[in-house]
Amino acid sequence: MKVGFIGLGVMGKPMAKNLIKAGYVLVVMDLNQSAVDELVQSGAETAKSYIDIAKQCKVIILMLPNSPEVRQVVLGEGGLIEGVEKGTTIIDMSSIAPMTSREIYEKLLPLGVNFLDAPVSGGEPKAIDGTLSVMVGGDKEVFDKHVDLIKKIAGSVVHVGSSGAGNTAKLCNQIVVAINIAAVSEAMILAKKSGLDPEILYQAIRGGLAGSTVMDAKVPMILERDFKPGFRIDLHIKDLNNVLETSHQVGAPLPITAQVMEVMQAIKLDGSGTEDHASIVKYYEKLANTTI
Ligand code: NAD
Repeated sequence: MKVGFIGLGVMGKPMAKNLIKAGYVLVVMDLNQSAVDELVQSGAETAKSYIDIAKQCKVIILMLPNSPEVRQVVLGEGGLIEGVEKGTTIIDMSSIAPMTSREIYEKLLPLGVNFLDAPVSGGEPKAIDGTLSVMVGGDKEVFDKHVDLIKKIAGSVVHVGSSGAGNTAKLCNQIVVAINIAAVSEAMILAKKSGLDPEILYQAIRGGLAGSTVMDAKVPMILERDFKPGFRIDLHIKDLNNVLETSHQVGAPLPITAQVMEVMQAIKLDGSGTEDHASIVKYYEKLANTTI
């Protein structure tokens, strides 16, 4: 079966490679020609346009930055909507605003075109291993039809509800990750300023209640001062913008998330927007005039 794949960045590239390894014929596109070339070397085909992909593929996966890019690729001039046939399924694995997922779902519905919002968690390492956690919103029967395909790049796939629910779940995930990195940073700063080796602190607490996947992923990076993304501060700001916009729409005040958003804004102003979100620690280092 031919599967379209649009968006070959940090995440999309390894996900696409894993689908090729699983035996799918992939037709890929990206604005970045070198990413396309790399996939062609791995066995993928390319297309001239979004319409061309839509005509060739009954399933099309998107892994794009945010809502405007997904809206443009699907609904914009020359977008997938101009080439898709009835019965096609578009699986959007980007992290975007739930309202946009719902809007696209509703525009495609009268055409008989299915749309699932299926954002992922796990970052680049799990994209490479094919063990991402995927949270899917959309029609259950469409989910059931495509879950085996999604499992080729995932360790866990959960249908969380109707259209938009996948991205709502992802926003919840991003709240927990952001606040967790900030909490870990505060703990490490206190240790450092108190004369306790932050690495020993990490070894002492990681097996207890404070331990977390976030702690195990980010503390080694902080200790090695390795801020290469991974997940960029800019992308996390994008997610927290979507979190706060959604939370205000539904009436769910999120005061701690709002504070961490301001921490990220300060880090971006300091020129670290393209670094991994582990660089949240740099905000605290500056406040406390120290380095972990
Ligand atoms: P990225 O910026 O590395 O990749 C995005 C890719 O999309 C780029 O290659 C870009 O050229 C391409 N692109 C943009 N607009 C396009 C268009 N109109 N047509 C074709 N290609 C286009 O981003 P990423 O880190 O791979 O993240 C992708 C999505 O996954 C984002 O929504 C992000 O929030 C989410 N995500 C990222 C991570 C992570 O750790 N990086 C983890 C989970 C979820």
